[in-house]
Amino acid sequence: MLTPEQIEALRDAASHITDPINDYLIGDIARRISEAGQLTSTAAYEVWMAQQLGTSQRQVKKEVRKRLKVSNRELKKLMTQAAEVGYDFDLKRLPVQAVPFRANESLQQIVAAAVELAGKDLNNITQTLGMVDPFGKALPLQDVYRSCTDFAFKQVITGASDYNTAIRTACANIAKYGVRTIDYESGVHTSLEAAVRRNIMGGLGLMNEQIEQVNHDEMGCNGWEISAHANSAPDHEPIQGKQYSDAEYTALNNSLVRRIGTLNCGHVAFPIILGINSPQYSDAELTDLRRQNEVGITYQGKHYTGYEATQMQRKIERSIRVQKNRILVDKATGDADKRTIDQIKLRQLNEEYRRFSQAAGLRTESERTWVVGFSREQATRANIGAEQYYQKWSKEISVNSSIETLAKYYDVKYTNSPRYERLQGYAKAVEKGDISPLVGFDLYEEVSAEIRERLVGATTSTGITIESFTTHFVDRVIGQTSTPHKGMRCGVSIEDALDALLNPIKLDDIRLMDDGDIRQTLYGSKAAVTISVRDKRLIQTNPNSERSK
Ligand SMILES: [Zn+2]
Repeated sequence: MLTPEQIEALRDAASHITDPINDYLIGDIARRISEAGQLTSTAAYEVWMAQQLGTSQRQVKKEVRKRLKVSNRELKKLMTQAAEVGYDFDLKRLPVQAVPFRANESLQQIVAAAVELAGKDLNNITQTLGMVDPFGKALPLQDVYRSCTDFAFKQVITGASDYNTAIRTACANIAKYGVRTIDYESGVHTSLEAAVRRNIMGGLGLMNEQIEQVNHDEMGCNGWEISAHANSAPDHEPIQGKQYSDAEYTALNNSLVRRIGTLNCGHVAFPIILGINSPQYSDAELTDLRRQNEVGITYQGKHYTGYEATQMQRKIERSIRVQKNRILVDKATGDADKRTIDQIKLRQLNEEYRRFSQAAGLRTESERTWVVGFSREQATRANIGAEQYYQKWSKEISVNSSIETLAKYYDVKYTNSPRYERLQGYAKAVEKGDISPLVGFDLYEEVSAEIRERLVGATTSTGITIESFTTHFVDRVIGQTSTPHKGMRCGVSIEDALDALLNPIKLDDIRLMDDGDIRQTLYGSKAAVTISVRDKRLIQTNPNSERSK
């Protein structure tokens, strides 16, 4: 099975496979438009144009072919990697001695066929390349070159606009729409990037389904589980994470408007043995995913469900791509003023992207790419710094033995929110000096688990049944000394905290807090515990000796 994270990373990688073609063509046409604008007579333009239509068009084709080869190599790598990680995942889960990926003949055949098909599709798509001219018309390459250079030349020569304006206008749609693939019969055009991405993901989905079917049959499975992820699209949310028998799954999938397995949405089905493989997500966890999706975020006054936030993020990603196209044009035409402005806009967009992603708790594209390891070389290099930083930080506060790499950290951050909350609480407590970094995140988690086990669910003498606790409460239980064991003694033992809840010898008045919370402190014989009466939550605790100081 491919994980939702891997599918996201694959989609990103698929979007970038034709970047070299896109970048080359945009730079090339922009450069020629600026040349056309510099010609000073119709005769000179005619001569120049004749030459363009001959040798230059051949040159363009050659360059596109060259880049297509690179794209094809990347495509092959991508599909093989995807097959391998998906297969390995299934091996780990199923109780069967299975053949390793490289040695599995039937699998290799499936992958080879899928790679070949995807390569053919990619080649077909690039046979119909075009761009959008200044009048908004999508034209094949040769025609769009002509339309754009004609436009620029005429604008300047007739004095309709000055050189800079003419070039900018001639190039505006080129940057805005990027390289397109055109269906000549219907006239419909799609961005090269989107068309190729859709094709690759479709091919990957089919390949993945074939592999899963082989695994299903070879490993004696009799059912399917649909993967689950945060921020699911509404149509698949009710069925995600659930297990089905073979017949149920086939019937279900045939009834869906959007089938599972096309990889358009991040869901896949993977083979299981009913009654043996327990589901990856419990019902409670699935309900929680749904609730979190619904709660979503409010960003700059606007509410987004989790799913809507992912769509908004995609939209910003598309704007960033367009802005990068604009800069390519500025470079090729030598338009220094516009380049400065466009680079500032790109920085603003990147900043907006980062802010929005952070507010929504979503990975940025570079994080998605490298977390999963489908990284292009550049992405890997750029992220070495981040990994080193994580290593240093995690060592300093003793998290590194529990969460060894930045990738795992992100995994905790984005897929396991209670654990991430604990990690944040731990890091904050260490930073503030409330607990020693030598405590280590391992112990912190152990203490959290013990609190959950022994204090959550307890009913106080005042009739409040505790439902949750703050990370600060964990800090207070652990205490402040330099070694874990001593630290325990200096904090509050769970015993003493429980005693304060069950048999308090004194009760403070109930206090109304500024934020509307209602709190009360219960004093036991050895420790005091403050609880939120409203939220049924443990807030903090102190040993009695410290309070009397
Ligand atoms: Zn889905």
